[in-house]
Amino acid sequence: MKNEVIELPYAKDALSPAMSAETLEFHYEKHHKGYFKKLDAVLEDSEKGQTLEEIVKAASGGKFNNAAQVYNHNLFWLSMKPGGGGAPSGDLADAIERDFGGLDAFKTEWKAKGAGQFGSGWVWLVLDGGELSIVATGNAETPLTTGATPLMTMDVWEHAYYLDHRNDRGAFIDVWLEKLVSWDEAARRLKG
Ligand code: MN
Repeated sequence: MKNEVIELPYAKDALSPAMSAETLEFHYEKHHKGYFKKLDAVLEDSEKGQTLEEIVKAASGGKFNNAAQVYNHNLFWLSMKPGGGGAPSGDLADAIERDFGGLDAFKTEWKAKGAGQFGSGWVWLVLDGGELSIVATGNAETPLTTGATPLMTMDVWEHAYYLDHRNDRGAFIDVWLEKLVSWDEAARRLKG
């Protein structure tokens, strides 16, 4: 893995007003980089040649928590874009129709899983056994360790939304689906 945090794929004010520059600044600079620094401090020399995915799959305890949080945030940034929202197209749209019965049903389940995740965690679109599904995970847990292929993810830790929405996670999820989500990375990963 690279010995530095990935660059954000857009400027910190590029998602505003759907996600404020202040939220991006704190989330990326303090939280994401914080996890990376703590991971980097405990990596063995033999692990520095491994991919981040390999490290996540093999690690436990604090090393797992920090490695998984780096992995989860890497995908989170790619799961949003300036001017996001709208609908997926092509094979991803077809798969959402097939496995959820359409985009509206997908959004209903996404919101329910996000609202229903007690405490900190993540909501994921995954490909597992050739089918799409939505899963929620607690704290740093990631479907990468279950053999599923993560396609996109939404951070529902309070630090993801508290500056913009205070305690209203539901408002954050609504804005995330309508103004922030990028289907591009999920479509790319679905192709394999
Ligand atoms: Mn986060």
